[in-house]
Amino acid sequence: MAVGWRPRLLPLWLAPQACTGMATGTEVAIDVGHYLDKPGVISASGVSEFELNRKLAQAVEDVLADSGLQARLIGADGQHDSLTVRTREARGARLFVSIHHDSTREKFQPIRDPRFAGFTPSRYHADPVLGEGRPVIDWQRGIFARDALAVLNTAHSPAILIEAGVVANPAEEAHLRDPEVFRSQAAAIAAGLRGCPQG
Ligand SMILES: [Zn+2]
Repeated sequence: MAVGWRPRLLPLWLAPQACTGMATGTEVAIDVGHYLDKPGVISASGVSEFELNRKLAQAVEDVLADSGLQARLIGADGQHDSLTVRTREARGARLFVSIHHDSTREKFQPIRDPRFAGFTPSRYHADPVLGEGRPVIDWQRGIFARDALAVLNTAHSPAILIEAGVVANPAEEAHLRDPEVFRSQAAAIAAGLRGCPQG
């Protein structure tokens, strides 16, 4: 990420080595995507995306705290039905990070296709048939433009939205539930955030 980077991107993964460092004590807002009444995607095994997002956001919060950053968790109570309230609550944080889990178009479900799994960029979002034809920002890291996302375009700081896995895919969901994978995923996200420049 570069200085002046606008809060209008949809990264599907972060590369920890991409950035160079946030000062100890810097505050980062970690937004739990969705809320109890509208919990987002339902995973292959029937778990709501909100629950998955909350668990991962809390794990990222813990790792960030251990690395000396202040994390401000937003939406963990499951009552945040307003996207602009989320970004307002994040005011003052250096970075706004919204945690989500991904899916595919309904016609491709149930998913067993390996293109919708694994820790590789979810490039199908750029495909007009498999995905939504999203403009590509960074093909290698799977970063797409998505100007219409309210949490990104109303944020008061640089903002990113992370899709942590394609949980509508049973194999992907099982992989993400592995405690070791879960821990390493939280650590990788936190390392990526920790590495972002102060701007
Ligand atoms: Zn979501």
